Amino acid sequence: MRFHKLLRYVTALAVLLLCGCAALHPVEPAGPLFLTVLHTNDHHGRFWKSSKGEYGLAARKTVVDRVRAEEAARSGQVLLLDAGDVNTGVPESDMLDAEPDIRGMNAMGYDAMAVGNHEFDNPLSVLRRQQGWMDFPLLAANIYDSSGQRLFPAYHIFRLRGLTVAVFGLTTETTAVVGNPEHIKGLTFRPAVDEARELVPKLRGQADVVVALTHLGYAESELPGVPKTGSEILARAVPGIDLIVDGHSHTRLDVPAQESGTFIVQAGEYGKFVGRVDLLLEGGRVRLAGASLLPVNPDGEAVPEDQSMLALLAPFQEKGQDALRTVIGHAAGDFPADRAVMRSAQTALGSLVCRAVMDKTGADAAVMNSGGIRAGLAAGPITYKDLLTVKPFGNTVCTVDMTAEELAEYLRLTASLPPGSGGFAQYGGVGFTLRGGRVGDVVVNGAPLEAGRMYTVAVDSYLAAGGDGYPRVDNLQGFVNTGFTDADVLREYIARSSPLDPAAYAPAGAVRRE
Ligand SMILES: [Zn+2]
Repeated sequence: MRFHKLLRYVTALAVLLLCGCAALHPVEPAGPLFLTVLHTNDHHGRFWKSSKGEYGLAARKTVVDRVRAEEAARSGQVLLLDAGDVNTGVPESDMLDAEPDIRGMNAMGYDAMAVGNHEFDNPLSVLRRQQGWMDFPLLAANIYDSSGQRLFPAYHIFRLRGLTVAVFGLTTETTAVVGNPEHIKGLTFRPAVDEARELVPKLRGQADVVVALTHLGYAESELPGVPKTGSEILARAVPGIDLIVDGHSHTRLDVPAQESGTFIVQAGEYGKFVGRVDLLLEGGRVRLAGASLLPVNPDGEAVPEDQSMLALLAPFQEKGQDALRTVIGHAAGDFPADRAVMRSAQTALGSLVCRAVMDKTGADAAVMNSGGIRAGLAAGPITYKDLLTVKPFGNTVCTVDMTAEELAEYLRLTASLPPGSGGFAQYGGVGFTLRGGRVGDVVVNGAPLEAGRMYTVAVDSYLAAGGDGYPRVDNLQGFVNTGFTDADVLREYIARSSPLDPAAYAPAGAVRRE
């Protein structure tokens, strides 16, 4: 007995001494070190799988856990990062301020997230509450308040076994233009490149690996009034970043992009994929050992759902669906969506949908396809669920700037789509004549079209991409996908404008066909 006790004491002492020595004199591990970075971006409220079985945090957890198990087996280490825009896009999540999404990220062990522009779709008080739910840091180096203080931590240093990883966050400067002015009042979005130029050398001195977690966008088109920005520009301008984990442009990079020795990755959107980057550290150098996008049922194939995650999320999904059944407004009369009428003439419902979109975006005009309006509104109370039958596709509202000539041409092309087709256009804010295939007498909000003036036109993401035979506009300068879903924009408008009198949306001849 005494001998055993003594042995235990000696062993404990030896362990203590060994640990003490190791702490005092860190020893370079002999072999290479593996660091796996798992990443997602532009989740936009997709905590629950779609009706087609795509994505969802329960299947995502299975994918993440598999990698964690693999890496544990070879003594590799894993960081799980999100490049921002967790908010906005799914009613059940939006109604709960993305709490299920964030709780789910906690359960999956996320290590850090960048601030996306859509984090400002809610007032700052909501974003602060969301931050309180997060078990991981929310990072943005380039957002400052009016007193010159950073609104979020700029970076986080991860001290892993044998290596130190610095992760810093950057948010697109275009938030200043596309963000809700009420929510970003007094905030400054400093140029990402300037911020990184100051920060990277400092982090380089402290870390073996420097990762930029950015919500900047890859190869984005330019916005008027904002200098061109993007992750590829950051990589070219600022040396010393090993890896850029990007978001915002919803780009699916099957193979990492490489700019000036920096790797750029992005994993599409909605959690359809978990990006995986395997880094190898040897002799003080960081090498890319492999990268891939791990599918999370993007085509409905079967990654099984993690049961613990389902148990966590199911009550939120129910609560979200309950919220959809609460009354948000009233109609004083019917807004019918009779298919034959909707696809051959301007209707009150078409005008209502266009008005809502113009109200949200400040656009001068709006164009919608009749086929995108799937149900009418009956006189009486209106719920969010009703609106999801009117606009069920979850398309997002977009705006594009056009010259007077481009607008006239856009009207000509859209008004030429045949009656009876889903493309038959409903207009807001404009009136014109179509005579022998030519557009004339164009009036925008009561004033004649002015040559040399720019006009902002709102359409949805489906039409912007050329859906239903519409001219494609998502490749034009000044194109902005606001990310707001059409049903949610309608909900906001109806909540504000009820009771809705159909007479106020009477279809005064937007298009006179002669
Ligand atoms: Zn974004």
